[in-house]
Amino acid sequence: MTTLVRWGYVPFMLIGINSAAAYLGAVRASELWAVALIVTAVACSFAAERLLPYRRQWNSPLDDAGRDSAHAVVNEAFILASVAVIPVLAAIMPSRSLWPAGWPFVAQLLFAILIADFGITTVHLASHRIGWLWRFHAVHHSIRRFYGLNGLMKHPVHQAVEMAAGVLPLILLGLPVHVASALSVCVAVQLLLQHANVDYRVGPLRSVLALNEGHRFHHLKWAGVGDVNFGLFTLIWDHLYRTYAFDPQRRFSTDDLGMAAKPDYPEAYLRQLAEPFRASGACQFRQPEIPSRISDYGRR
Ligand SMILES: [Zn+2]
Repeated sequence: MTTLVRWGYVPFMLIGINSAAAYLGAVRASELWAVALIVTAVACSFAAERLLPYRRQWNSPLDDAGRDSAHAVVNEAFILASVAVIPVLAAIMPSRSLWPAGWPFVAQLLFAILIADFGITTVHLASHRIGWLWRFHAVHHSIRRFYGLNGLMKHPVHQAVEMAAGVLPLILLGLPVHVASALSVCVAVQLLLQHANVDYRVGPLRSVLALNEGHRFHHLKWAGVGDVNFGLFTLIWDHLYRTYAFDPQRRFSTDDLGMAAKPDYPEAYLRQLAEPFRASGACQFRQPEIPSRISDYGRR
């Protein structure tokens, strides 16, 4: 069973759930199917984390289960509400004909993923460089355990900025609403996979797909060290930006996660929403001491 989860979990989610999203989008089923698929994906993520955990203790809440659920529900509702607005935007867009509507649905979805991946990855990188963006992105980096729901643990303002960068170019091209619905499922699946506390494997694809093996390096708590592997769907842009890093020997524990410069970051939901607007939410430029054992991962 563990072998099945280790090698079958990613294909099940990436190909199985996403193909179901593509099929239901292609036949223009009711938009409610996207909600049902996302709930199914969350349930599969929790099941896989219990069958084959990377760290068993990361399955136990650290007074964070309610807060993380609030982030997940609010942010997912925001994403789905944004999808519902797309037909309104499409109706006022003059360039609707630019969308490759004649392509097979799966090709349209992959095209949307590639463009969204570039925008979201680039804003993510900028969020580690620009002070006001980091204030909002810091919520996501305050985690103390690495598990599926972390993907939706974001400040709504930061999610809105990321979504705008990823989806606005698509809307300008005339993104159809049923492609947007399928894309919203693919994003949810990717966020779950990327943060899953599942010891799955994808072989050499780990240097191309933005999955948890690479993303754990992004959550290392030391400034600079964690500024790697920004990709959402792929690591293509990290290779181009020279921000890809990986060490197959590295194992991660709770002590490696979070933000070394902000060890007392607020933990309650509403306090996390307020923190970017407070003086204490400013970027910490002082470089904390980095233990030599994690100061270099053979970046390219
Ligand atoms: Zn980040």
